[in-house]
Amino acid sequence: MRIFLLSLISIFLTIVASAQTIERCYELSAPFYNPQLSEELEQYTAEWVKNKPLTSRSKITIPVVVHIVWNKEEDNISDEQVHSQIAALNRDFQLENDNLDIISSSFENIIGNVGFEFCLASSDPEGNPTNGITRTETRFTNIGTRGNSIIYYSEEGGKDAWDTDKYLNIWVAEIPDILGYASRPGANSKPEDGVVINTQAFGTVGTVQAPYNLGRTTTHEIGHYFNLLHLEGDNPSCEEDDLVLDTPLQMTRYFGCPDINTFSCGSQDLVSNFMNYVDDACMALFTKGQADRMHAALNGARSGLLDNTACLPTSIPLNIMSNLTIYPNPTRDYIYLKSTLEQVQETNYQIFDTNGRLMKEGIFRNDNSLNRISLPYPSGVYFIKCTIEQEEIIKALLLF
Ligand SMILES: [Zn+2]
Repeated sequence: MRIFLLSLISIFLTIVASAQTIERCYELSAPFYNPQLSEELEQYTAEWVKNKPLTSRSKITIPVVVHIVWNKEEDNISDEQVHSQIAALNRDFQLENDNLDIISSSFENIIGNVGFEFCLASSDPEGNPTNGITRTETRFTNIGTRGNSIIYYSEEGGKDAWDTDKYLNIWVAEIPDILGYASRPGANSKPEDGVVINTQAFGTVGTVQAPYNLGRTTTHEIGHYFNLLHLEGDNPSCEEDDLVLDTPLQMTRYFGCPDINTFSCGSQDLVSNFMNYVDDACMALFTKGQADRMHAALNGARSGLLDNTACLPTSIPLNIMSNLTIYPNPTRDYIYLKSTLEQVQETNYQIFDTNGRLMKEGIFRNDNSLNRISLPYPSGVYFIKCTIEQEEIIKALLLF
C-alpha cells in the first residue's frame, strides 16, 4: 500500500512538475531595449485611441505567412493544421468563438470585436503565387528555444522572414518549455519580428496537446504582436497597468482555469481574457479597449500590413497593372490616376478607409489623360479599388 501510495504521489508530482515546465509565453517589449521608441509608440497609441473613428469596423485583412521549421517528421505539420489555426484566429478576433458563455456577466459591456481577418498570403514578396506556408527541414532539434535566434535565418538552419513590414510572420517549431513568444511593435529587429509558436500548441488538430489545443497560444501572441500587454502588466502588481482603459487592474498571473469570480486590486479580475495565462478553454475575449489598442498598432507601427495585397487573387493581368498609374503616393490630399488601356473607355474607382467605409467613387477615362482626384481626408491609410475588364486592382494610399 505504501509503495502504491508513494508511486501515486510520485506520479502526481511528475504531472505537477511537467505542467509547470511549460510556460505560456514570453514577449519582448520595446522598453526591453529602446525606451524612447516605446514612449513614442505609447503617445501615438493614446492619441489614436482618443480620436479613433466612430464608425463601426468592418473586416480588415491581415496577410499571414506560416514558416514550418522542422527536425522531427511529426513537427512538419499538415496544411490542415495550419488552416485550423487561421480559422481559430478568425473566430477569436471576430467574436465568433463558441465559449463566450464563460465570461462573467460583469464584463458583458466591454467584450470587443477586433474585426481582424487573418488570411494565408496568396502571393509572396516577389509576387509569386503561394499557399502562405513555407516548409524548412533543419538539422537542429528544439530550434525554437527562446533567446536562440537561428530560427529566423535560413543560413543558420531556420527560415528567413518575409518582409516583416508587410506580412505577419509566424514560425512554428519544436520549442522546449514554452508555448510561444512574440515581439511587440519595434521590440525586435526586422528580420526577427513576428510570432513563434510551439508545434504542440498551434491549431486545433494534428500535433496539438490539451489544454493548449484551441489555437489560443497564437491568439495571445498575436495580441502581443499588436501591442497588447498581459492583464497584470509587465511587472505584476496593483500599480502596474496594461495600458488599456477598460481592463481591471490585476495583481498576479492566472494559470489553469480559475474561478471567474476572482478579485484583486479592489475589483473583479477578467480571468477569461486572451491576455491571461489560463488554459485555452478558459479564455474567451479581448475587450473593446484592447481592440482599440490593436487597431492603433495596425494603423501605426504595423500599417505596412495594410499596404499589402497578398491576400488578393494574383491573377490580375500584367498589362492591366502596368497600364494604371497612381501618383503621388504617399500624398497630402490628392492623387492623379492615369490609364493607357485605350481599348477600355472608362474605369470605375472607389476609395475606402481602413474601416471599409466608402469615401468616394467615380469614373475616369483610359485615354492617357491625368485624372485629378481630391482626397480631403484625415491622414492615414486608404485604399483605392479600380475595376478594369472585370479585374479588381486594390492599392493602398498613404495620406500624410
Ligand atoms: Zn504573453
